[in-house]
Amino acid sequence: MTGSILEACSDCKACDLATTRQTVVISRGNPEADLMLIGEAPGAQEDMQGLPFVGRSGRALDQLLREVDLDPARDLYICNAVKCRPPNNRRPKKAELAACRSWLDLQLAAVDPKVIVLTGATAVEAILGIKGGMTQLRGQWQAWSGRAVMPIFHPSYLLRNPSKAAGAPIDLTRQDLAAVRRRLCER
Ligand code: SF4
Repeated sequence: MTGSILEACSDCKACDLATTRQTVVISRGNPEADLMLIGEAPGAQEDMQGLPFVGRSGRALDQLLREVDLDPARDLYICNAVKCRPPNNRRPKKAELAACRSWLDLQLAAVDPKVIVLTGATAVEAILGIKGGMTQLRGQWQAWSGRAVMPIFHPSYLLRNPSKAAGAPIDLTRQDLAAVRRRLCER
């Protein structure tokens, strides 16, 4: 199922982002995983390589995942709410999120994750319909379609806030991912 998603999605021209993208960025990781991580949209590196979260923020994310004993290639399926890069890395527009939602829904149906991690406010709003600051939303378990959902800071925010101190965004994100790991072990 995920293979056929990939074939059809890689030709999609359902919104204006098709005219500026280089590559449709669909996923990386394990389509059989119990954990799905959803971000906002591809950046420049992702657009070039055709894989989500492979630039600096992706490497920061992978490092934190490994620190809580989650293997990014084995334990997660990683994708974005929008599959094509918005010009100049602007936030995806509502119409683009809406146009791309059917691809995300197909991915959710195919992977059928037990737990979902949402990175950043755009992903939280796209899935949960909640608007708000990530400082309030992160670390608070939510539910969507029978699944446990954990909002976390976007890794690009962590790059802008590099403090390793206890209680800083990196430390809080590590705690949130550790809670996700524990939740997966309970199942
Ligand atoms: S962003 Fe989504 S809906 Fe728009 S062209 Fe890319 S794959 Fe299609």
